[in-house]
Amino acid sequence: MIRSLPAEPRRFQMFINGRFTDGAGTELMTRLSPAHGVPVAQWPSGVVADSEAAIAAARAAFDHGPWPRIGAAGRSALLFRVADLIEQKAEELGYVECLETGKPLAQAIGEVRGAVDVWRFAAGACRTMSGESFNNLGERVLALVLRQPLGVIGVITPWNFPFFILAERLPFLLAAGCTAVIKPAEATSGTTLMLCELLLQAGLPEGVVNVVSGRGAVVGQVLLDSPQVDMVSFTGSTTIGRKAIEASAQSIKKLGLELGGKNPHIVFADAKLDEAADGVAFGMAFNAGQCCVGGSRLLVQRSVADAFTAKLADKMRRIRVGDPLEEGTQVGALFDEAHMRKVLGYVDESLGEGARLVCGGKRTASEQGFFVAPTLLANVPAGSRLLRDEIFGPVLAVIPFDTYEDAIRIANDSEFGLSASIWTQDLTLALRAVREVQAGRVWVNTTLDNGPETPLGGMKQSGLGRDAGLTGIEEYTELKTAHINLQPRQAWIA
Ligand code: NAD
Repeated sequence: MIRSLPAEPRRFQMFINGRFTDGAGTELMTRLSPAHGVPVAQWPSGVVADSEAAIAAARAAFDHGPWPRIGAAGRSALLFRVADLIEQKAEELGYVECLETGKPLAQAIGEVRGAVDVWRFAAGACRTMSGESFNNLGERVLALVLRQPLGVIGVITPWNFPFFILAERLPFLLAAGCTAVIKPAEATSGTTLMLCELLLQAGLPEGVVNVVSGRGAVVGQVLLDSPQVDMVSFTGSTTIGRKAIEASAQSIKKLGLELGGKNPHIVFADAKLDEAADGVAFGMAFNAGQCCVGGSRLLVQRSVADAFTAKLADKMRRIRVGDPLEEGTQVGALFDEAHMRKVLGYVDESLGEGARLVCGGKRTASEQGFFVAPTLLANVPAGSRLLRDEIFGPVLAVIPFDTYEDAIRIANDSEFGLSASIWTQDLTLALRAVREVQAGRVWVNTTLDNGPETPLGGMKQSGLGRDAGLTGIEEYTELKTAHINLQPRQAWIA
């Protein structure tokens, strides 16, 4: 495991039609480690022509190439090979991910190993896809419903979990027989580009997967606009998700959207408070709070609110924030300086509105890195932006509630509906809450649990569609219905 900074930034290239290239532009983008302030990676800043070349390659590979035409057994075998190759490179991929994102090295390597499991799930699930037959339409007609690959998929990913989020999409669409153009986030493209080396090694035919690096508004927008792209799977902010919807209106393409969240933890008075405090602390601080499904609102039943706040603050003060390359670090740096200032700005604004700081609330760990101490606030006035906006940092405010009905009403009073965590020993209450809370993923007495078997996605303005699970392959397919006449035709014209 490497625990030192690289002597110079690692140089990456884009991957178009089976070849690594600098593309048609001249500019390079340089990523500084947000934890250390030193350059760690460089890749080309792509131009429109690069996206167009990538789309043409993916189109040709889908329309004429072998990938959608070989059987599922062939696709599955290749996906398993890719999973093995990722596993062999897990430490190196994790190291690059750690430097570019600022997340702890052990966590980054863990995410790569988690991605291996997702690739293996999709590789196996690939062989289960089938259609339907309708033998009950009467003697004359037999109907078949074929499940076919959708075509060329544009995949646009964010900076918080670059490799894992890609794993929740790419092997599934490949399993379905689709081809892809990927646009990773401009600041964290390294591991997506490293994956291309492994795809080549595994023998993926040229043009099936292409990656263009660069600015979203330039290379990403082409994917949204192009009529040659059949679907865009977008993971990122609700603001850009809205742009994706607008652009797709022109070409009427399918969209998968995984967007923002403002995810409630609901702690009932009968919960095991120590366990709940630990879970809430983990859920809010994991990945420095830059986790779309991380808990970002804390509803606590009033009778235990003070006791719970004290337990939680004690846990939060003991979270080890610091250099992501150091062993034992639990929380690394925020994504960049502007983001850190935005997060601290929310805290300052709420203090100005009369909120009380329980712990954290400031920059910590080092002057070079963008570290924020896990922050807990109380008495935040209703209507404060801190309670409504997705902050995407380690910041949480205690919101007391009285009854179950109050808790569900407050939890659902949000434009988002991505995840929720319920803490109680009363199973009936928990199951009622699972039913009534508006969220794509709900956890009971745990948080951030995951597995490739289960679908993920959001309700309301948190998104459209579901990735992972068997649904994760179906997302990238289209149904076609065929009616087949089995009898001599009864003449319409005598
Ligand atoms: P972002 O919306 O700024 O960027 C996401 C991606 O979109 C990047 O690759 C970016 O380059 C690209 N992009 C930007 N403008 C574009 C345009 N005009 N056309 C096409 N592409 C464009 O999001 P971010 O800051 O990278 O990530 C953080 C956000 O992602 C948060 O809101 C978080 O909640 C969300 N997120 C959601 C999930 C989920 O599963 N629901 C998972 C992770 C992150």
